[in-house]
Amino acid sequence: MTELGDLLADVAARVTRYRESVADVPVFPEDTTGVREKLGDLPEKPAAPADVIRRLADAVEPALVANTGPRYFGFVTGGALDAATAADMLATGWDQPAFNKITSPAAAIVEEVAGEWLKDVLGLPSGASFGFVTGGQGANTVGLAAARHHVLARAGWDVERRGLHGAPPLPVVASEERHATIDRSLRLLGLGTDAVRPVRADGQGAIDIADLERKLDGPAIVCLQAGNVNTGAFDDVAAATEIAHRHGAWVHVDGAFGLWAAAAPSLRRLTTGLAKADSWAVDGHKWLNVPYDCGYAFCAHPESHRAAMALTAAYLTGQGEGGVRAPSDFVPESSRRARGFATWAALSELGRSGIAELIDRCCALARRFAEKLDACEGVTVVNDVVLNQVLVSFGDDTDRVVEALQRSGECWMGATTWHGMRLMRVSVSNWSTTEADVDRSVAAIEAIRNREAS
Ligand SMILES: *Cc1c(COP(=O)(O)O)cnc(C)c1O
Repeated sequence: MTELGDLLADVAARVTRYRESVADVPVFPEDTTGVREKLGDLPEKPAAPADVIRRLADAVEPALVANTGPRYFGFVTGGALDAATAADMLATGWDQPAFNKITSPAAAIVEEVAGEWLKDVLGLPSGASFGFVTGGQGANTVGLAAARHHVLARAGWDVERRGLHGAPPLPVVASEERHATIDRSLRLLGLGTDAVRPVRADGQGAIDIADLERKLDGPAIVCLQAGNVNTGAFDDVAAATEIAHRHGAWVHVDGAFGLWAAAAPSLRRLTTGLAKADSWAVDGHKWLNVPYDCGYAFCAHPESHRAAMALTAAYLTGQGEGGVRAPSDFVPESSRRARGFATWAALSELGRSGIAELIDRCCALARRFAEKLDACEGVTVVNDVVLNQVLVSFGDDTDRVVEALQRSGECWMGATTWHGMRLMRVSVSNWSTTEADVDRSVAAIEAIRNREAS
């Protein structure tokens, strides 16, 4: 083999070894001291690629978090499917700038195909436009930018040209339990967090419809949530959208992970009315198990989407040259990673039935967690487990139990504060998690809680 062949074969072997052992290593690294030292100082001279890679891997492998393995239940991280991982490695090797069809027809066409497939599987309108972004944060920013354009244009204000100085007010009506990324998007878009009129959430964290109606008095941006990041609860999108549209408001749905419920027939009822919204944010790197990073923004008003995002003025951009759309006209970046390859591979590896099965299985495992933990002494599950999220209280011992659990390396869950309670948050979103992984994790939690109980 050539030197390059040896290098890439070595990397493939390392990735293989890592992925094949990830279920058996401590879920969180035991000791990350020494990483900086091993990375060394900026070298004065060139080095052989094989040496560089050996030094990098040797330095950082001890500090890797096994979030791609089956017992990582922190945040909502997902895993990485085999085909999607391999496709992402190809994307790196091919190094395609997914700007438009001139810089890479391959990247532009695969995004177009994968975007159509995503709309189909998520039950979104077939005419919706889409952009491949870095994640839920990026997708919320794109959806809210399209909303800003659309609502202000109807008020006779061209925000892309004139900015927000002197613009009509643009209230944002959003749940008090909205995800923190909504606020950052509002900051970036110049709307500011003071624009938010917070709407009460109910006992499970879903938006209070009567309070939503009280907060609306005309055109606005309404932010709904499909999947509360703590409880998994869904806002009543059908009722909320009906009210919002009556007031001339735009409805943006943050469905970073929860929108995938639409892909599982058994859960689809949670997303009733979803297709009537105006924009949607969804992650690829969470529940679809595409490697980091990958998210999708969808918009029911392609002209507003493009007006907010296109590189050139809206009137200059058609459907793209030669019938292929320019992917960069729907996102805030121009030169960008070709994320379509990994998404296409994930959707192809799973197929429609495999996606439904992945979502169903994760929810069943979350219910298994809830049943088993609730049966343990001194342990209470505090939310209705409607999706893949479980909130667990150990009373006054919660923080101590979670910290000890994280140190154990057996599994990893995070802590959260929700409705005034300190809680352990369990999220099941990895394709490789099994019932045995849940049972092993529950056994670890029970042992630690019995040791740590005050
Ligand atoms: C994770 C998440 C986000 C942010 O997504 P990133 O991919 O981390 O940018 C936004 N909203 C909700 C509900 C989430 O769960």
